[in-house]
Amino acid sequence: MSAAYIALGSNLEPREYYMRQAVRRLGKLGKILKIGRLYESDPYGVTEQPAFLNSALILETALPPRELLPALKAIEQRLGRRKRQRWGPREIDLDIIFYGDMVVREENLHIPHYDYRNRRFVLQPLAELEPDFVAPGSGRTLRQALQDCPDQTRLKLYKTDWAVNGY
Ligand code: ATP
Ligand code: CA
Ligand code: CA
Repeated sequence: MSAAYIALGSNLEPREYYMRQAVRRLGKLGKILKIGRLYESDPYGVTEQPAFLNSALILETALPPRELLPALKAIEQRLGRRKRQRWGPREIDLDIIFYGDMVVREENLHIPHYDYRNRRFVLQPLAELEPDFVAPGSGRTLRQALQDCPDQTRLKLYKTDWAVNGY
């Protein structure tokens, strides 16, 4: 069993519904150890689109990363995500940020996620869950990574304990 650190995001309504449904379905892939707070953030990259809800969770799973990725994509599709422009609007986006202390560098799978250091909406919920986690390949804790993060995008606390009951 390993701990997968997964970032979740949605910017198409009903956003919160998609986020909760994703949590519910992720729970079937293993055991959810921790769920981060729910944030609202301005879009990153392509800025002319609706605001995102973002969060993160830690999933203990027996699925190795190469099997976890297609399982995440299947959840995205079940929730209605279609191929659109990259970084554009989506019902749900599920990214593997870390997978234990593993480093994977393949064409279609990068772990740690290639851009996590530059994204406050990824780092902040994760750093709140495990501030002392040492990000593989960097030697930096998540607390330090968040302090170093160049992204000044506003994160608004949207809800705490949003996925505890009833999803
Ligand atoms: P970004 O990757 O910059 O966050 P995005 O999430 O919008 O953008 P997608 O269209 O969801 O991009 O995914 C593009 C591809 O990224 C996926 O098909 C997948 O193969 C690949 N990928 C590589 N590493 C990862 C990872 N750690 N987690 C999720 N997808 C990954
Ligand atoms: Ca993403
Ligand atoms: Ca993605």
